Amino acid sequence: MDTLPGLPFDNSYARLPERFYARLSPTPVAAPRLVKLNRALALQLGLDPEVLASPDGVAMLAGNKVAPGSEPIALAYAGHQFGNFVPQLGDGRAILLGEVVDRDGVRRDIQLKGSGPTPFSRSGDGRAAVGPVLREYIVSEAMAALGIPTTRSLAAVTTGEPIWRDGELPGAVLTRVASSHIRVGTFQFFAARRDTEALRLLADHVIARHYPEAREAAEPYRALFEAVIGRQAALVAKWLLVGFIHGVMNTDNCSVAGETIDYGPCAFMDAYNPETVFSSIDQQGRYAYAHQPSIAHWNLARFGETLLPLLAEDNDRALAIANETLGTFRDRYVAALIGGLRQKLGLSTEEEGDAALAQDLLNAMTDGQADFTLTFRRLGDAAADPLADAGVRGLFTNKPEAFDAWIGRWRERLTHEPRDGAERRAAMHAANPLYIPRNHRVEQALSAAAEHEDYAPFEELLAVLAKPYEERPGLEAYAEPAPPDQGIYRTFCGT
Ligand code: AMP
Ligand code: MG
Ligand code: MG
Repeated sequence: MDTLPGLPFDNSYARLPERFYARLSPTPVAAPRLVKLNRALALQLGLDPEVLASPDGVAMLAGNKVAPGSEPIALAYAGHQFGNFVPQLGDGRAILLGEVVDRDGVRRDIQLKGSGPTPFSRSGDGRAAVGPVLREYIVSEAMAALGIPTTRSLAAVTTGEPIWRDGELPGAVLTRVASSHIRVGTFQFFAARRDTEALRLLADHVIARHYPEAREAAEPYRALFEAVIGRQAALVAKWLLVGFIHGVMNTDNCSVAGETIDYGPCAFMDAYNPETVFSSIDQQGRYAYAHQPSIAHWNLARFGETLLPLLAEDNDRALAIANETLGTFRDRYVAALIGGLRQKLGLSTEEEGDAALAQDLLNAMTDGQADFTLTFRRLGDAAADPLADAGVRGLFTNKPEAFDAWIGRWRERLTHEPRDGAERRAAMHAANPLYIPRNHRVEQALSAAAEHEDYAPFEELLAVLAKPYEERPGLEAYAEPAPPDQGIYRTFCGT
């Protein structure tokens, strides 16, 4: 691997005790082909895109060669899946190659996903199909462009090997970048084994890596819990503000760094409906759009339980601390949500009635089956030009009168605002994306790639989604929801 010079790995997780992971190399594949490299992200990570695109670079991204300095490991973790505790999950199809410190001094994991079986694979094959790999690539990069904390996608490689799902599918490997892959489920893994020593090492690792300010606090583990709550509250508010439904908010998919992780069955909703569910396996609607804040709270309660032995010597005292800290979630979440809704509505000042104003619009949108993204975007146009009201009204296919009543109240509220219409529109357009990963567009891009090896729609969609707030001529169709004859959209995980 002499042509892979200077991959500056520094692998702090691999220095933790051996019971935190399994050491193993990725399983080589038949015919690796680089189908996408995120050059901008490579540069941000201090990696040379030309090196990554070279034959040795691609061999590394496919798992066929292990670069010098890499210490490949599969991480151990547990988790609650749909409410049921599984004491051992772990990286069943992912291998952490190592960590690099990026240009901003942030330590980032570089992980292969779909790189072959590990001791945590259970009955799985350790592989991923090209469709889901490109799906994660598109949606995670779209989330990053939207300004939402997320894992990133550095590369996608096809393997030249078929994998078996419902039928034969082309295999692929994603290179995922995360500020870490430590989950609530990682803490649960050790809590379930009553391994307090490991819990303390893990908590100290997370503090050093993600929350260094907690180390200086009077009670560092309480400060850690508080900080994770703060990031999760902010994250889930951001999801709701763009209409994102994660789809599989199990505790093993809940990052302690507060990044969106695991793009399996996620999707963005078109028409606003708080009960929206896309995942085919979420029969009960546990992870529906509007349930996400309470699920995040539930996941954080599980996190708090794992921290009990660290919070205080006395168990009652530890419980009291955990409950008190968990109690801060709601206020933080609500503040983040209301703050975001104010921005979406173009409000730069705060008034009592703002939350109700926002909620009443959402209610009218539910009744009217109005497209979530376009309603807010076009409201920005209406902020500068009352003639544009009709463009918003037209999105309400039912009961548009409810919208008429609402927009009168909004205009009245705007008279208390200092900004002029043009400024307000600019601010609203910076808060309300025009382009989101519309489900039908994502599916088109994936099927062109998987069925015809045509990556042009994938590339074009990525380019559109890279600037979600910037209207560009010729891209009108990308802003539109799926035509009504498309039927109900369903997503699948684990494919
Ligand atoms: P997820 O539902 O994507 O969060 O995955 C849950 C667990 O299943 C994790 O431990 C994954 O590593 C594992 N897993 C998912 N797909 C596969 C696969 N194809 N092979 C092995 N393990 C898998
Ligand atoms: Mg997962
Ligand atoms: Mg997954």
